[in-house]
Amino acid sequence: MSKKIERRKFLKTTAAAGVGATAATLAAPAISQGREKLTMVTTWGRGLAGVFDAAQRVADSVNAMSDGTLEIEVKAQGELVSGLPAVFDAVTSGQADMYHGADYYYVGQHAAFGFFTAVPFGMTATELNNWYYHMGGHQLHLELGEEFGLHSFLAGNTGTQAGGWFRKEINGPEDFNGLKFRMPGLGGKALGKLGASVQTIPGSEVYQALSSGAIDGTEWIGPWGDEKAGFQEITKIFYTSGFHEPGAGLSCAVNKDRFNSLSATHQKIIEIACGEANAWNLGQYLANNGEALQRLIAGGVRTLEFPDTVWDAFGKASLEVLEENMDDPLFKKVSDSMRDSMKKSASWIELSEGAYTRQRNRVLG
Ligand code: CA
Repeated sequence: MSKKIERRKFLKTTAAAGVGATAATLAAPAISQGREKLTMVTTWGRGLAGVFDAAQRVADSVNAMSDGTLEIEVKAQGELVSGLPAVFDAVTSGQADMYHGADYYYVGQHAAFGFFTAVPFGMTATELNNWYYHMGGHQLHLELGEEFGLHSFLAGNTGTQAGGWFRKEINGPEDFNGLKFRMPGLGGKALGKLGASVQTIPGSEVYQALSSGAIDGTEWIGPWGDEKAGFQEITKIFYTSGFHEPGAGLSCAVNKDRFNSLSATHQKIIEIACGEANAWNLGQYLANNGEALQRLIAGGVRTLEFPDTVWDAFGKASLEVLEENMDDPLFKKVSDSMRDSMKKSASWIELSEGAYTRQRNRVLG
């Protein structure tokens, strides 16, 4: 006999027996049994502008939408586990229920994780959302997560990221030779092809690494996040456009067994909260970057663009890195899907939004 039938029979019997139980008292134990608590670990230090906010946003939305029946407690980097691999391991092992982070920190676990944050010469935030929600991207995120016992959602986006902070100007691709630079994911691997000594350091430790000289330069996010991190106190050379994260998605991944143990309502609440955080977070970055850029410039920061020769070298190295991973069938499947989507979306985005933005800015000045 199924539990549902058993319960129905129980309700019928107690009602018939006239025990006087009201609907409210019968319902009370069911609600209390439905109360769930999830622990979320993150790759972010507590309060780290934008990225940590997105994690907290997911938790707050879930808590509010579920009327408190599903509670998420956010543990920042170092509070339950320390380091980027430990965040992934905590969730796959079931020590924690979910993580919020950037999936490209886990390209060592599987190179295809790179696609769900950003790959070099890949998608902008708009293109990523097109692909993710309408052209098979989320399905592939789930397929990849399945291999590690994860159920994943996009849950934030930083928008197009900056090229980063350097102690010396970059005049040609040769200037990357021997440069100790912080850049995660497949972008970092591409930079390695230019001779850079590439390091992946958690965001909360980058300031210390740059100021001590352990690294010569770093990318982080963009004007707002970088200003909060304080890199302008160390160097004034800031490259405003980067090749490595054209629209970096943030992920929320739930331990799959734990996710499956939740009610359909709670599962849907998590999905909706992640989708909302994705849009909210992108707006948050765009809303703050403009003013932050003006403050940085007023404080003496020089904004530069890499020369075309450097962009050409970035492009060549990026395509090589993507090509090198094609032996893995799932990587190839995700890459083909992403490129196909990007190709289909790009021409219309350029003809519509691209042309419109150029004309609007020209006319309004
Ligand atoms: Ca970054």
